[in-house]
Amino acid sequence: MEGLIFLVVIAVIVYAFVKGNASKSTKPNAGDPYACSGCGVQVKHSRRTISAWERGARSFYCKSCHGKWREVQSSQKPSGCLGMFVFIVVFPAIAITGLFII
Ligand SMILES: [Zn+2]
Repeated sequence: MEGLIFLVVIAVIVYAFVKGNASKSTKPNAGDPYACSGCGVQVKHSRRTISAWERGARSFYCKSCHGKWREVQSSQKPSGCLGMFVFIVVFPAIAITGLFII
């Protein structure tokens, strides 16, 4: 009977250990292969993807997909600057000309 309990305890410990390892993703090393989340191409981890992993990212993009993403990010900036320009320059200009008209 004691032998059976011992076996069950061992089985539970092994199960918890295996399950814990399966659900917890290990830190990738430079050169480890991964599939790009954008185009699915098999690429190797670089310093960029590893630092992204350290920041909590679990899906990674290849260099060209990352470049496209950065282009999208930078192309959105001018509209933000234009909005700021309108707010800082055009809005007071309209307010001042409005004052002169009144
Ligand atoms: Zn890609």
